[in-house]
Amino acid sequence: MKYQIKPNGDYFSMNTQEFFQQLDGRITNEFPAIHAPVFKSAQNTPYLAAPGVVLIAKPRVELSGLKNFLEGFDPELNFSNYLNDPAELSSGTQLCKMAGQTCYASFSPKRTMNRDAGRYFKNIMESGHGSVLEHANYSFLLYGLSRSLTHELIRHRAGFGFSQLSQRYVSGRVLRFVERPEFQDGGKFHQMFLTRIDRAYAEYHQLADALLAEQEQGAAILSAEAKTDLRKKVNQAARGLLPNETETIMVITGNARAWRHVIEMRASDHSELEIRALAVRLFLCLQQIEPILFGDYQLHELPDRTYSLTTANKKV
Ligand SMILES: Cc1cc2nc3c(=O)[nH]c(=O)nc-3n(C[C@H](O)[C@H](O)[C@H](O)COP(=O)(O)OP(=O)(O)OC[C@H]3O[C@@H](n4cnc5c(N)ncnc54)[C@H](O)[C@@H]3O)c2cc1C
Repeated sequence: MKYQIKPNGDYFSMNTQEFFQQLDGRITNEFPAIHAPVFKSAQNTPYLAAPGVVLIAKPRVELSGLKNFLEGFDPELNFSNYLNDPAELSSGTQLCKMAGQTCYASFSPKRTMNRDAGRYFKNIMESGHGSVLEHANYSFLLYGLSRSLTHELIRHRAGFGFSQLSQRYVSGRVLRFVERPEFQDGGKFHQMFLTRIDRAYAEYHQLADALLAEQEQGAAILSAEAKTDLRKKVNQAARGLLPNETETIMVITGNARAWRHVIEMRASDHSELEIRALAVRLFLCLQQIEPILFGDYQLHELPDRTYSLTTANKKV
């Protein structure tokens, strides 16, 4: 990481760093990811046991274009000094700070400098003036999510965009499943899970093949004309038998304020296990690149050895 500014020293706690590494978190060209391995049942049905989280987009900020704008004010204000700040911030933090400082035309040498960005955002979060955090957007590819998880995730409307796998357009060739944490001890519930996904996998293909064959012989169950349309109608009928344990993938984009809300709601110990594991992973990636915007959370290990996050700065 090029930028090393940390708010008030103790903000960027080591245990979140260690946990990121423990989960095999990796940073490639300043873009963090926590991947999830793919397993196979004895019948070769693919499944995952954790969410995979890959940051694919974040802000890029260029302030030099402000030069003419800043020079257009009374030279005694010395606004052009705004471009002279030796401390480099991460892009999202710089963007939100510049946006916040625009509110009070805080461009003079008396403004809060980048080295004090931690204190600046601490004030913003404590006073609940989080609208400046809406400027910075972060996009993730998510995989290894069950359909029950995404049903909860897409309830978050404010500040998010979603693109989720279509079970109508995509055939059974990418069909995979997700094992819930409770079943992962290798015991009888794990065996039941494997039996269940083998059965669902086989039944889906049998049903899709049967529907396709009937339709191609001229039966009118699906009433489709064009070939691609026919496949869609086959898939949409066959998907009805798939369980909540079916994997889905999505690209999700959210602004920093919206991400904070999701982390607060979904990484809480009241939240469901699978979405909580996702929220913790999203937080770990976001904190890697934006230690100031996501530095005020405490990571807790719960008695059942799952993890939750809390912050004093709620509903920023
Ligand atoms: C532990 C837990 C249990 C849950 N159980 C259930 C359940 O049993 N049944 C169920 O249906 N849902 C349940 N939910 C989902 C929950 O009710 C919300 O729909 C979900 O968490 C989205 O959060 P949000 O409403 O804050 O929306 P977000 O879209 O994340 O919005 C963020 C904030 O923006 C504001 N906002 C957004 N939209 C509007 C609006 N239209 N009008 C005014 N203000 C708005 C609100 O301040 C809101 O908090 C549960 C959630 C959790 C975390």
